[in-house]
Amino acid sequence: MLAGKAAIVTGSTSGIGLGIATALAEQKVKLMLNGFGEQSAIEQLRKGLADKHGVKVVYSPADMSKPAEIRAMVEAAERELGAVDILVNNAGIQHVAPIESFPDDKWDAIIAINLSASFHAIKAAVPGMKRRGFGRIINIASAHGLVASGEKAGYVAAKHGLVGLTKVVAVETANSGITCNAICPGWVLTPLVQKQVEAKAKEANIPVDKAKEDLLREKQPMLRFSTPEEIGALAVFLCGDDAATITGAPLSIDGGWTAQ
Ligand code: NAD
Repeated sequence: MLAGKAAIVTGSTSGIGLGIATALAEQKVKLMLNGFGEQSAIEQLRKGLADKHGVKVVYSPADMSKPAEIRAMVEAAERELGAVDILVNNAGIQHVAPIESFPDDKWDAIIAINLSASFHAIKAAVPGMKRRGFGRIINIASAHGLVASGEKAGYVAAKHGLVGLTKVVAVETANSGITCNAICPGWVLTPLVQKQVEAKAKEANIPVDKAKEDLLREKQPMLRFSTPEEIGALAVFLCGDDAATITGAPLSIDGGWTAQ
């Protein structure tokens, strides 16, 4: 059903973005990967996905904190893949600190990458989607787009903002063949969360496995992590015809975190 469509997945060199890119490639969707990493590792990833699934896969090194680079990434995808039918705004960073000592530069970077980048990418991609009468925009928000946790001012503000942006775009594009939704994961064990687990283990002087368990127990009734594959499967569903009337929705995939 999605074969031949073209997608950008930002921040797809790792974690959830890579899970979504892989799930789309399995559906024969052409891909533009994006994100940081070692050049040779990224090339291996690009070639691996292209060879395994027989689809065109290209890479953009665009920095999601730079609006001009985001616009250039969308233009490059339209040129190299023929369209941007699916846009997954996934790139994100985290910083944990109390409000009084939250560093200004971390606040600015989180707002730029976790929120403003989606605005710039959507703004650049929507005209082509409207022309073609089809578009699927998926913003990777978080349980933190719906509820707060302490010491995450930048992240929680950005993710709540992203859920708001999702709703506005859904309303504006409702009769253009475009849907715009937010996926709100709970804990997914990716490098972003691994860093938080290790910091917790160090601070409390406990083994990493115990810190993982504590992390889950603190927030998530279901004491297991979601996987990048599960997030990828939800993204694929949102891209399909069966999800044509799901728009403006924040979709929780969080083991019950926000049910409490
Ligand atoms: P990750 O650290 O594994 O991956 C982040 C990706 O973003 C990487 O590819 C990285 O290179 C890229 N990136 C970072 N800064 C960038 C920039 N300036 N320009 C371009 N690319 C950049 O993290 P993850 O856990 O896979 O997170 C992906 C998204 O999912 C984030 O938006 C995150 O907030 C969200 N999320 C994660 C969890 C979780 O538990 N892991 C839960 C909810 C939401």
